[in-house]
Amino acid sequence: MMQTLSINDSQRLQLAPLVVPSRLLLGPGPSNAHPTVLEAMNKPPVGHLDPAFLAIMDEIQSLLRYVWQTDNQYTIAVSGTGTAAMEAAIANATEPGDVVLVGVAGYFGNRLVDMAGRYGGDVRTITKPWGQVFTLDELRSAVSTHRPAILALVHAETSTGARQPLEGVGELCREFGCLLLVDTVTSLGGVPIFLDEWGVDLAYSCSQKGLGCPPGASPLTMSQNAVEKLKRRQTKVANWYLDMTLLSKYWGSDRIYHHTAPINLYYALREALRLVAQEGLASCWQRHQQNVEYLWQGLEELGLSLHVDRQFRLPTLTTVRIPQGVDGKAVARQLLLEHNIEISGGLGELAGKVWRVGLMGFNSRKESVDRLLEALRQVLP
Ligand code: PLP
Repeated sequence: MMQTLSINDSQRLQLAPLVVPSRLLLGPGPSNAHPTVLEAMNKPPVGHLDPAFLAIMDEIQSLLRYVWQTDNQYTIAVSGTGTAAMEAAIANATEPGDVVLVGVAGYFGNRLVDMAGRYGGDVRTITKPWGQVFTLDELRSAVSTHRPAILALVHAETSTGARQPLEGVGELCREFGCLLLVDTVTSLGGVPIFLDEWGVDLAYSCSQKGLGCPPGASPLTMSQNAVEKLKRRQTKVANWYLDMTLLSKYWGSDRIYHHTAPINLYYALREALRLVAQEGLASCWQRHQQNVEYLWQGLEELGLSLHVDRQFRLPTLTTVRIPQGVDGKAVARQLLLEHNIEISGGLGELAGKVWRVGLMGFNSRKESVDRLLEALRQVLP
């Protein structure tokens, strides 16, 4: 029998093919992907268990170990953005009742607090004003007071532009028998990281910042100690999609179907990582540092001041104080609409007080800085 229901066409838009503006993305992320990476994304998808795709996954794993400077076997890309990888780290490491000590000196520290609580962690915090970092002595005193199962820190706090030094923190965690979990979302590829040397047990990142790739495939790594804690769990990981006991059977030699990987994003991540390896980590880190110093100088010449002490400033993200009497939102809007340059405002405690300027991955180039400074000269009152 013919159907009698009629189709509702009210949402049936008749659109022209997609057009998107060409922007220079100098905010906190995403940053512009490298053109070679975008080309790689255009290749036709193969199956998620095709030997050709499995070989790409292996390459991603090796290259992630290189960019993080780790030998961790459990090193994968999570299908999702940085928040999914963050949630994977927390979900796999935290058992209900575990004391989780979080260093909060910005927005993403607070996100860790929220997540760890949702997975049943007994969450404790140490705090610092936004833009500052914890000293090793402060961390020692907090760890010896709270005796956590996990210490969670944000290496590169994107909301403030501050770099949390990690030297010595791993030894401290070993001494007190706790795992060290680190957010490297805004540091991977742009800021020196030596995960194994620093004794980091769990780390996660994203694709869309220092690696110069679109968002959606996010690095996650777990040390042997973290894997052992996972294997000793009395309870299942409270998140099916992000459970490493299942995911490791897809990424490891079993090759058991878990979910349909976003094939083209993994092509892109593989290419982005290949380009970092071709450049070499040392050169990549040095390029980020040189370009950001050039930016800082230019901003200071425009009479602007920077929020974070020079020794703790990130090479990937700079917080610039909005001068008294200047409408920060209006300036950012003008940069976007008249100059096609995206920068961003502050979050939380720093909302309305700073602009955030990112120089990450492919965008960490002298031309990006020159374009921004020229536009600022025109836009600033
Ligand atoms: N952690 C930090 C430090 C971040 O800067 C971000 C995003 O900017 C995230 C986590 C979350 O990543 P995403 O927005 O890719 O989900």
